[in-house]
Amino acid sequence: MSDDLDDLYQDIILDHNKRPRHYGALADYTHTAEGYNAICGDKLTIFLVINGDLIETVQFEAACCAICKSSASMMSVALTGKTLAEAEAVFQRVGDLLSNDLNLKADILFDGEIAALAGVRKFAARIKCATLPWHTYIAALKGSALSTD
Ligand code: ZN
Repeated sequence: MSDDLDDLYQDIILDHNKRPRHYGALADYTHTAEGYNAICGDKLTIFLVINGDLIETVQFEAACCAICKSSASMMSVALTGKTLAEAEAVFQRVGDLLSNDLNLKADILFDGEIAALAGVRKFAARIKCATLPWHTYIAALKGSALSTD
């Protein structure tokens, strides 16, 4: 990974931290979950509006570090308008992207800014910060499944 690419990744992450997209609590959600990363102290809440198998809205609130907040912001952008199956595929690819074992070319896997999360791979202690929003999204999905049983 070149230094230029690192700089680009850092700029994207800082921009999402400064101006998080889809930020703020949502009153009329269909799914919600809270996530907590004890290592860093990151806390966030994900709010979803899911209609059939379409993710219509993704919002979040957070008291967390820059990596966590920018990951949540990028996730909200990436998952809005996706079907649940498409979102699952994105979730899997982000998991691959953040796994240190794989030498993936992030910019080939992703057209969008999510590729910037690949920059986090160099900092093993921060990977949980980046994955917390994604795991909280899954928790929100499963929370609904449990409540309808
Ligand atoms: Zn963190």
